[in-house]
Amino acid sequence: MRDPRYDVLFEPVRIGPVTARNRFFQVPHCNGMGHRHPSSLAEMRGVKAEGGWAVVCTEEVEIHHTSALDGAVEGRLWDDMDIPVHRLTVECVHAHGSLAGIELVHSGLNAPNTYSRVPALGPSVRPVTSGTPSVGREMTRADIADLREWHRAAVRRSLEAGYDVIYVYAAHGLTVFQQFLSPRFNARTDEYGGSLENRVRLLREVLEDTVELCAGRAAVACRIVVDELLGVDGQGRRVGLGRSEMEAVFGLIGELPDLWDLMVGEWDFDSSTSRFEQEGYSEPFVHGFKQLTTKPVVIVGRYTSPDTMVRLVNQGITDFIGAARPSIADPFLPNKIAEGRVEDIRECIGCNICVSGDWLSVPIRCTQNSSMGEEWRRGWHPERIAPKPPESPDAKVLIVGAGPAGLEAAMWLGRRGYEVVLTEASRTLGGRVVQEAALPGLAEWGRVRDHRVLQLEKLDNVLVTLESPMTAEEISGYDFTHVAVATGATWRADGLGRFHATGAFASALTPDDLLAGRRPAGKRVVVYDDELFYIGGVLAELLAAEGFHVTIVTPDSKVSAWTVNTMEQHKIHRRLVAVGVTILTDTTVLGHEGDTARLACTYTGREHSLACDAVVSVTFREPHAPLVGQLQSLGLQHVQAIGDAHNPGTIAEAVYSGRLYAESLQSPDLGVGVTPFRREIIGLAGR
Ligand code: ADP
Ligand code: SF4
Repeated sequence: MRDPRYDVLFEPVRIGPVTARNRFFQVPHCNGMGHRHPSSLAEMRGVKAEGGWAVVCTEEVEIHHTSALDGAVEGRLWDDMDIPVHRLTVECVHAHGSLAGIELVHSGLNAPNTYSRVPALGPSVRPVTSGTPSVGREMTRADIADLREWHRAAVRRSLEAGYDVIYVYAAHGLTVFQQFLSPRFNARTDEYGGSLENRVRLLREVLEDTVELCAGRAAVACRIVVDELLGVDGQGRRVGLGRSEMEAVFGLIGELPDLWDLMVGEWDFDSSTSRFEQEGYSEPFVHGFKQLTTKPVVIVGRYTSPDTMVRLVNQGITDFIGAARPSIADPFLPNKIAEGRVEDIRECIGCNICVSGDWLSVPIRCTQNSSMGEEWRRGWHPERIAPKPPESPDAKVLIVGAGPAGLEAAMWLGRRGYEVVLTEASRTLGGRVVQEAALPGLAEWGRVRDHRVLQLEKLDNVLVTLESPMTAEEISGYDFTHVAVATGATWRADGLGRFHATGAFASALTPDDLLAGRRPAGKRVVVYDDELFYIGGVLAELLAAEGFHVTIVTPDSKVSAWTVNTMEQHKIHRRLVAVGVTILTDTTVLGHEGDTARLACTYTGREHSLACDAVVSVTFREPHAPLVGQLQSLGLQHVQAIGDAHNPGTIAEAVYSGRLYAESLQSPDLGVGVTPFRREIIGLAGR
């Protein structure tokens, strides 16, 4: 039963001509599937609706070929050919009684248009902000009239596809309507530039067009930046749109749309990781905007706590609880609150692996929700799994190692009805997640463990044993029919990795050493990061906080380079500088002898030395799974390494591997060469 404290979250809310059945609103979010994987996309949105989100929106949907976000795979509604795939999404969302929303976008100066090969369009001549060194063209009045017509056509097509909420998008620094609004891009001297009234003109006109066309058939939403957070320039002048100007915008057009979707800054702030921002970080910025309009508003802030959600509504900060990432990590978050199962919520950990899918143009994945992106192609569900086959009543599974992979496998196998034993050598469940969650800023990552441990407690058929390091001999003495080896991986200590093809260090420390509490003997430490993800940077931060003099050396041209895909790289660089870490990029460590490290420029090979007491080698981890071979030589047939023990990778990959093991156990062999998931083929258009 639902806790009555949360009743307010389940009140219906009118959005112009339509009514949302509760206050849970999946705001538009990118997913790397877009126009390329429409069935995957539609099924994923449908699952969100099934989980109780009253409004489920698309990602940004390009309205015209002059807004081609090449590289990224976003939605498309360029012409009538695109309508059927949108109809599919709408059907999937409607099937569960939710409203379907579409976020129409014209990207203006943000569109590289490298596919369509037309110039980017903007309010003024400015560099294109993504993907090309080209410069955008200043739109003429005729261009503006065309743009309005393209938007109107997209609205008509959206209505034809059946959408209930249609967005006019002026946020994230990504759209032409924001570019007209912001003095950062708009230097026009005609009626579309200069004063605020002039800069808001295009947005007003497009909102009016959209309201007129929707004519009671669909609600009109406007996603708007309430502060561009651009600060001041070298002369002390404010750059871009600040709060006071945006309040004035609400004074001008606050009653035009049926709903305001408020956001702050650019995407990297809107989707800040937990390493840099806590739940609700945007609240101070959006606070008070609801009072500037009679129309409902939606805000985001990686909210997973229903108590906080209730406070936000009761304090008049928002009408809807907007979510992208909390709805990705747990599509059933609203239903769990409704059913009085708050403890079952799979809380987002704020790692942005989901975001990396968009940057890498691959279907979305999620550390917490192993089914994300697999709903259609593998038929996985965030809450359900097929029971074990009835013809195998005696199957008994041992999982060795209770890191993310072992925990996930045990949870889903337990739900399938298998008899499972999960053994862990140490005193705690969670494996690497427990250790890494103790690092600066990563506490929320512990949710990977917490959720699974709690779920395992509910499964009588899963026995969990701690302080039970298993040997092959011991295991072979039991009657397990299947053994999953989830014993993790070990960091290499010698510097061999992407850059060095042979070892460079005789006695370096590794992340394993630091995570186990060991520390360098002297104060001067070099962290050699050739892995390029987060751990090198976060260990440098840890050591600096403990008083070590830290230099982070990386062969890449950026520190923690891969974190550009989680939108953290610039924040990590800034933080490392702030805590006093010296950053040396394009540099490698050739060796460490006595109190000297020998460094070299990766371009020229020019060497120099650095006083250094210890090197921490961060290159890669090797699977730690001796049990697999040992068990096989003892005659066990069904032995498989999973997670890092199979192939070391992200926590998300380990979780996914655990789910894959659980889903595939005793399933029919597909045979050699068969693609194990569904995929879509581009339809030939004819010649
Ligand atoms: P993954 O990310 O693949 O889940 P982790 O390194 O996080 O891997 O977790 C591996 C877990 O396996 C650790 O908690 C470790 O203590 C445990 N482990 C390693 N060897 C054994 C063993 N022989 N018996 C039981 N547990 C083990
Ligand atoms: Fe949250 Fe990470 Fe999942 Fe994204 S990938 S929804 S940030 S847990």
